[in-house]
Amino acid sequence: MQEVKILDGGFSTQLATHVGDIIDGDPLWTARFLITNPKAIIHTHLDFLKAGADIILTNTYQASIDGFSKYMNITEEESLNLFCKAVDYAKEARNLYKQGIENGKNIINASPLIAGSIGPYGACLHDASEYSGKYCSSVSEEMLINWHRPRIQKLLNSGVDMLAIETIPCKKEAQALVKLLREFPNSKAWLSFSCRSDGKSIADGSNFQHVALQCYRQALPGQILAIGVNCIPPQNATSLLKGINDNCKEEFVPLIIYPNSGERYTLEHGWMKHEEGHSLHEFIHEWLNLGVRYIGGCCRTNAVDVEKIRAEVEKWKSNN
Ligand SMILES: [Zn+2]
Repeated sequence: MQEVKILDGGFSTQLATHVGDIIDGDPLWTARFLITNPKAIIHTHLDFLKAGADIILTNTYQASIDGFSKYMNITEEESLNLFCKAVDYAKEARNLYKQGIENGKNIINASPLIAGSIGPYGACLHDASEYSGKYCSSVSEEMLINWHRPRIQKLLNSGVDMLAIETIPCKKEAQALVKLLREFPNSKAWLSFSCRSDGKSIADGSNFQHVALQCYRQALPGQILAIGVNCIPPQNATSLLKGINDNCKEEFVPLIIYPNSGERYTLEHGWMKHEEGHSLHEFIHEWLNLGVRYIGGCCRTNAVDVEKIRAEVEKWKSNN
């Protein structure tokens, strides 16, 4: 059976334990700290590694050339260099973690991997449109490809092990990214969508399973490591994933899930507890049984959650 990989948790949530509650609402979000506080970035990655993450994600979700030039007043070249820096900080955390291992500390995974985070175009519009996909009808596939290309190229050149293509809200952007990945035939990526709470649709209303499987099959063989969903309340995830590995028994499709804590974000009130909120830990065995092979947390999950996820995965493995 394919190994289960544990991802990290919400970078901004864990970062806040180092820098305070000053991250959400920033147009560059966690990417601003690439300039202002590299040390906090390294320590955030290290927290997740110590908690048992097999894969850590660079804090480049909301990083873009246009965003950096608009809000930090830096050139295109300087902006692109920040993508390299993001990978360097993740590597530095990994080195620190390995040094700890050499000193006999906390051996959970001797060779953790680094995924370069690629958020959707909508994340950089800073209007929460990664949860609606509303921009997709007004941009062309070509524009999306050209916008994503330098970010992907820079992350791959900087030596990430894979790309984390995440919170993608529309079919058009997912297809554009799969097309773009063909330009980098040696790269590997997971493709994770931003979905509605109806249990079947991605944010733009397209059918999740249909689009995700189509992308999986259109990509170069083996290039897409997993398809799935992130930043969704945990209780809404199962119905999206259910059936993918029943209907096509011939081929096993590795799935990925990294939900949020189930709290809701509004611009006015920030994160609020949802009345019917569930903990993601309740669903871990159920998801693994559906074929999830990459599992972690998104917004409002932290290093303690990663530790708990790891413990549940270990339990599941010993029963399977
Ligand atoms: Zn999230």
